[in-house]
Formats: sequence, C-alpha cells, structure tokens
Amino acid sequence: MPRPILATIHTEALRHNLARMRAAAPDAKAWAVVKANAYGHGIERVYDALRGADGFALLDLAEAERVRALGWRGPILLLEGVFEPRDLELCSRLGLWHAVHCDEQIEWLAAHKTQVPHRVFLKMNSGMNRLGFAPQRFRSAWARLDALPQVEEISLMTHFSDADGPRGIGHQLRVFNDVTRDLPGERSLSNSAASLRHAADPAVRGDWIRPGIAVYGSAPDYPEHDIAHWQLQPTMTLASRVLAVQQLQPGDTVGYGSSFTADAPVRIGVVAVGYADGYPRHCTTGTPVLVEGVRTRLVGRVSMDMVAVDLTPVPQAGFGSEVTLWGRAGNGVVLSIDEVAASAGTLGYELMCALAPRVPVVVE
Ligand SMILES: *Cc1c(COP(=O)(O)O)cnc(C)c1O
Repeated sequence: MPRPILATIHTEALRHNLARMRAAAPDAKAWAVVKANAYGHGIERVYDALRGADGFALLDLAEAERVRALGWRGPILLLEGVFEPRDLELCSRLGLWHAVHCDEQIEWLAAHKTQVPHRVFLKMNSGMNRLGFAPQRFRSAWARLDALPQVEEISLMTHFSDADGPRGIGHQLRVFNDVTRDLPGERSLSNSAASLRHAADPAVRGDWIRPGIAVYGSAPDYPEHDIAHWQLQPTMTLASRVLAVQQLQPGDTVGYGSSFTADAPVRIGVVAVGYADGYPRHCTTGTPVLVEGVRTRLVGRVSMDMVAVDLTPVPQAGFGSEVTLWGRAGNGVVLSIDEVAASAGTLGYELMCALAPRVPVVVE
C-alpha cells in the first residue's frame, strides 16, 4: 500500500472561484493565471474547470505548449514576454500573445521574420519596479511597436504592488491613466487582490482581469479578509492519516529537538506528512489541523515524513484517522490554506506551489 497521503483538486471549487472573479468585474474578460503549473495544482488537472476563462496567462513557454496540447485555441498570454529571440518563433507558431516589458524584446520583434503579426501587451512600470517601461518611456515604446509590421495589436498592461494592502493602488493607477489616456488598445491591470478590492472603478477592471490566487481558493489579503469573506472555496486538499498513536505523560516530549513538552497526559497522533511533501517545516506547535474534521493543533517540529497532532479534541480518533492539513475534510469542514501558511510565516501561494512531486494527486 502506498503512503496514505493524498492531494485532491476540486474541480467544482475552481469553477466557482472563477465565476466569483468574473462577478467582481462582470464587464471585463478574465485571464485564468496558470503560471507555476497552475499554482501547484497541475495545468492538466485544472484545465477542464478553467476552460470557461477567456484566456490563460502564464510565464513558461513549455506551459503554453501544454495548454495548446490540451486543445485550447483561445488566447494565451506570456506575462513576462519572451526570454530570447527564438521564443518568438513559438509565439508565431502557437499564436501566443506576449508581454513586452523592455527594449530588447522590441528589438527582437523588429528582427523577427513572421507571416503572423503578433498581439502584444506593452507593460508599464507604474511603481512596482520589477518589469515594464518607465512612464516617461512608455509612449515611445508604444510608437516603436506600432510602427512594426510584426505587431498587429498593442494592449496596455501594468501590475500593482499593494492591491492587497493599506497603500493601495491609487498612486500607480494615476500614473497609468495619465500616460495611457489617449492611447488605443485593451487594458489589463488587476490581479486577484485588485479585482476583489478595487474593481468598483471601471479603470481598474479594464478589459482583462488577471486573477490567479483567488481562483485557487486563497484570500489575497489574508488575514484582513478570509476566503469566507470573499466567497471563495478551497481548490486543493492535502490529507493524510494517523500512522501511530502515542500516550504522553507530563514531561514527555515529541519529535526532533523536543520542542513540545506535555504538561498533562495527552494522546498524540503521528501523521504521514512532512516537509518532503510540501508541508512547511516552519509550522510550529499550535498550527491548526483537522482530525476527522475536528480542529486541533500540530505539536512539536515538522519532520521530513511525519508530524504529530494533539488528539485531545477528538477522543474517538486513532490509527488510520483522516487528517486534513489544508482544504476540506470528509465532513465538509474547511481549513483554509491561508491559515496554515500564516502559521508558517508565509502565504497560501507558497504552500500550494510547493506541493511535492511525491504526493499523489486526484481530481474530483
Ligand atoms: C501572477 C500574476 C498575476 C496573478 O496574481 P494573483 O495575485 O495570483 O492574482 C497577475 N498578473 C501578473 C503579471 C502576474 O505575474
């Protein structure tokens, strides 16, 4: 028998979350962002649920090929554009739309021989300072692209640094709107956080929203808001089982480093999951976990292949009991990936992307 660990991808939840993001910006088209192998879910596993999107956005050309191989004939956007000139051949062959964020990419396009003119998304650095043309250089980049026979249509794009937080998007939105006011072309500005928090403004919705994390059932602004607040559903469950039970007496410890010491008699379940499965090693005593759908806590350190949980709130639990590390338990109780991530000082993004290859995955 294989180890009893299993990840489950929830098709209906993916559909629900995509519909939820569409409802946040009903007059805009929606890219389903499937970079990083659909945030660790697996592009092939989410494709059926997300094919209702208007397009797929990603970074990696091999991932774009996988989306085409699934039979998708609609738009695919390379969010970082091409990485070297010959990538443009693949864009021509597969009809990929691509971001243009730097002069090199314009020069490569100008030298590219193609029968098929390209659709490009010209990216402005409106304040994030990762990718894009500075505002004062944006219009000349637009004019250069507009003059190229290799370019069929230019859309306008930027990305917000603080859509999930107190600084907000106003400063970047002003820059983007000022510079692009009289330029033609579709616009795309908003990730999940901007789409959920700021899309009452039609300029924020633009023509295309780019939701990623919310589609995968994580609240982009946790802990200010949780998935229940945003009406999102978990799309990934990581579950395992109790492998062994230990009865601790006061003074007994659990696991490496003896970081947990019992102060009263306590029953401990040892669970088949560890950091080699993608469960974060930074989770410490107190991290929430569900045993048979009942909330309890992690105790002691996370090992490579095992963790220990406190069975006190679940006296009926024992060898073989279901343990939900995040997602939805058999009884329907939800433990959001955001809560577990917060216990490890990180984000739901990192946990779902880090699901380890050794974990078997089923789609339901
Ligand atoms: C990843 C990414 C997104 C999606 O962001 P979420 O926070 O996951 O919604 C949108 N736009 C760009 C350019 C991205 O790189």
